[in-house]
Amino acid sequence: MEHKGKITDLQSHTGVEVMRCYQCGKCTAGCVLATDMNFPPSYVMRLLQTGTKENYIKILGSNSIWLCLNCENCLGRCPMEIDIPKMMDYLRTQAIKENILHPDSKPIISFHRSFLDSIKYTGRLYELGLIAEFKARTFRVTQDLTIAPAMFLKGKLHLLPEKIKDRMTMKRIFAKTIENVKTENK
Ligand code: SF4
Ligand code: SF4
Repeated sequence: MEHKGKITDLQSHTGVEVMRCYQCGKCTAGCVLATDMNFPPSYVMRLLQTGTKENYIKILGSNSIWLCLNCENCLGRCPMEIDIPKMMDYLRTQAIKENILHPDSKPIISFHRSFLDSIKYTGRLYELGLIAEFKARTFRVTQDLTIAPAMFLKGKLHLLPEKIKDRMTMKRIFAKTIENVKTENK
């Protein structure tokens, strides 16, 4: 079944023209996570090129989009300068929007949300708050608890959050981003 509209949307949001990929495989050869992915990056490109709904859903439901580290190795190696990291970012938002989520994605999404909450409320990353929120979201309360004392002693964890002076600007950035997403989705 044709699913061209989704590919056109992907192109307009990321600038990635999937048909420019000529399957040289350099992206996959340079990707440290390719062997762990359901579909390595060049295979993701090939699936997108088919333009079918089945293959698009396969990508959204794969672990590939969640394992991608946005390290840009693939982009640096691609002779066609195809921005795979940007495309992976876009595909992650689509997977959330369409609620087609690989089981591996859940802790990653929880971490992402906890990270953003920390930035939203303090303007900086508050590691202890991030860890607490992430553990609460994922029910991993006791995991890695034994390393906390050593991290305190080395000054890697702070009891209280550091806050930036102009937190209102940060709140405005978040509000504006949410507004833009809502407008885009109308
Ligand atoms: S390196 Fe670029 S052209 Fe080659 S397979 Fe990957 S995306 Fe396609
Ligand atoms: S950006 Fe993602 S797909 Fe590209 S090399 Fe890094 S991990 Fe692999």
